[in-house]
Amino acid sequence: MLRNRFEPNRKCHVVIYVRMSTDHQNPRSPDQQIATIKELINRLKLPWTIVMIYRDDGKSGRYKRKRPQFLKMMRDLRCGAVKAQLVLVDTFERLSRGDDNAEIRRKLSRAGVLVLTADSQFQDPTSVSGQALTMVESIRATEEGRVKAHNVVRGKKDAIRLGHWPGGPVPFGFRLKNVMIICHGIEEIDYRLLVPVEELRPLVLRIFELAAKKKWGAIRICKALNADPDISDALKPFVVSSIDYMLDSELYFGEMVWGKNCTGIEDDVRVVQPNPEEEWERNPNFCEPLVPRPLWEEAQAHRAERRRRHQAALEHAATAEDGSACPRLRGVALTYPLSGLVMCDACGRAMVASSSSVYLTVDGHERRYVAYVCPAALSGACPNTRRIPEDWLRETVMELICQRLFLKRTA
Ligand SMILES: [Zn+2]
Repeated sequence: MLRNRFEPNRKCHVVIYVRMSTDHQNPRSPDQQIATIKELINRLKLPWTIVMIYRDDGKSGRYKRKRPQFLKMMRDLRCGAVKAQLVLVDTFERLSRGDDNAEIRRKLSRAGVLVLTADSQFQDPTSVSGQALTMVESIRATEEGRVKAHNVVRGKKDAIRLGHWPGGPVPFGFRLKNVMIICHGIEEIDYRLLVPVEELRPLVLRIFELAAKKKWGAIRICKALNADPDISDALKPFVVSSIDYMLDSELYFGEMVWGKNCTGIEDDVRVVQPNPEEEWERNPNFCEPLVPRPLWEEAQAHRAERRRRHQAALEHAATAEDGSACPRLRGVALTYPLSGLVMCDACGRAMVASSSSVYLTVDGHERRYVAYVCPAALSGACPNTRRIPEDWLRETVMELICQRLFLKRTA
């Protein structure tokens, strides 16, 4: 195994990484962290030169990709744009909170860079005790995250049982009502209640009636609402995902169901997993309903039927005799190399690959047109109705990349 020799008393170049976390339990500011690190260098009389300071303000440690300066530091050090032998952090949690801190250390170590923490007095990470400490630090970073998550969950469950709003975005048609308390002579918010906005009740009812009585899906409902001149522009545009959310949310008939899914981060991607039903927190009388329960259930029955048909079509397509595993449904995105990279210039959303229905060419081959479209254009929330042919865009982009990579001299 390669060993990066650590000799604290040799002159070397160091970088500092600081991060302001969004949680309030650890409020040390980036400036305080920098001060602590510099003070310790002076106190230990280390002959180090600080060549760069990277700081991410107000970033959670959960996602690496949301910390631009962290990513820049990793790039700079690994490609040699910044030459340093050490990364100094206040505590290990600043670098990373998840299970990937060992991975980060490994990557840096391969570039000949070691990570030292001020709270361990810059202990030698290559010594036996240093390695033990590294292990403890990474366990602590993970454990701290777990304990925090546990406390948040407990707090939310308690709030739901009491009928208090547990936090998060307020669903359409509702608002929050503050309930105040006098504390040491000062009026403070004690908790919040979810209450219907009476002026919006007819609109919410209309959405559920379209879904229940006319059996419309969210796209069609969105289109109708966005095109309706009697609905105030302030409420527009309606988007498919929020109509979907509304129609599936029990809050509209007054019940709070919380904890159906849990989320975690794996390889920097958010993963959603369903929780077993006995772990859900339910309060059937959480708030005043906006729609009668039978209407909600009728809409839900149609939605379940839609989902079932959709699933059946997918399965049918997957087992189709011609061996092609292409879903035969409109609007189902297959994997296209530019997915997520094509942006709508009218609204900034990522455009999605959408496929026409299958047609037969004159010589009897099955064909389909695939084009990138703005997902909000379907519902009328975005005016950009352009369709960009997928094959044309892919070939053009590939050609450009090849030209850039293998510089063709044209002059
Ligand atoms: Zn758009």
